[in-house]
Amino acid sequence: MKVQLNIAKPESWLTKNKKVIIAGPCSAESEDQVLATAHALSKSGNYDIFRAGIWKPRTRPNSFEGIGSVGLKWLQRVKEETGMKIIIEVASKYHVEEALKHEVDMLWVGARTTVNPFSVQEIADALHGHDIPVFIKNPVSPDLQLWIGALERMNKAGITKLAAIHRGFIPLSASQFRNDPIWELPIELKRIVPDLPIICDPSHICGARELISNVAQKALDLQMDGLMIESHINPDAALSDPKQQLTPDALNRLIKGLIFRDKYSDDSDFSKRLENLRNQIDTVDEELLSLISSRMKISEEIAWEKKKSKVTILQVNRYKEILKDRRVQGGKLNLNAEFVQSLYKLIHRYSIQKQSEIMNSVVKTI
Ligand code: PEP
Ligand code: MN
Repeated sequence: MKVQLNIAKPESWLTKNKKVIIAGPCSAESEDQVLATAHALSKSGNYDIFRAGIWKPRTRPNSFEGIGSVGLKWLQRVKEETGMKIIIEVASKYHVEEALKHEVDMLWVGARTTVNPFSVQEIADALHGHDIPVFIKNPVSPDLQLWIGALERMNKAGITKLAAIHRGFIPLSASQFRNDPIWELPIELKRIVPDLPIICDPSHICGARELISNVAQKALDLQMDGLMIESHINPDAALSDPKQQLTPDALNRLIKGLIFRDKYSDDSDFSKRLENLRNQIDTVDEELLSLISSRMKISEEIAWEKKKSKVTILQVNRYKEILKDRRVQGGKLNLNAEFVQSLYKLIHRYSIQKQSEIMNSVVKTI
């Protein structure tokens, strides 16, 4: 997949050599709530950016849908009184215009908006000519193309100060999380666009305040560039997302408990040991690939035999037997059962693909 984003270096607008931390309530509810939360957060010096939702995308109507533009004046006070930058969610041209009028510093596009290219384009058009940072939350569904598409739309409108926010994906089956993290997706985004900062939002992933610190730590360990965490002066009374918000004190404790690891180490002994271990991995991988290649060749021979005897490619019982047997064998070698299952499903898929190619090529030459 070719993705070309012209993005400004995060050091120039977001953060230098440190993780950025965004905190603030899910929603701005009253001037007192916003200012009390902001002052309590700002005292710790932990936070660079203050978040608050002004218009709330609620799943069902008749719940609190945001305080609207009046809240933007409260956020201007937060900025003046604490020096923190302000970030809000925008989902329409009107929201963008209101945000720009009230000197909001940064914007985010919410998960329910990223799924809709019409809305994303409307926001991008409204931002044309404005050099404001924009953070794109992942779409609610695990669709990397939509996530990248929204980043591209902003970039085409001239926005270069871009970042992504990983807030998890609607679970398809029972999960301890409100939104499953599916870490492979932000990791894949990092691989495709290495310069793009990715911030993790553990609040919306977890949906429950007790789970947040583990997910936040994992995000840092996976080299995410920062965190966005919801904080409310009185979480239980919050008008939206009460279960996942933390008091400013609880959030400060959580941040203090996190380990901020370095990307690299200057320790030469560490570097030597790492290089040695990586060399060992390279050798094992070479053997592994050579074994897989031998396995594929045997599978090809099987295809010729099946063809000669007019036997179907798929042999369900044999497939089931392999999965079961390899799981047991893997278990004895301390390998995770799910990992072994996925590995053999993948090997089987490509084995079948190869066998079909052989069968089809034969059909054509007859
Ligand atoms: C939010 O940040 O409060 C919010 C509504 O987020 P999301 O778009 O991730 O649901
Ligand atoms: Mn929220």
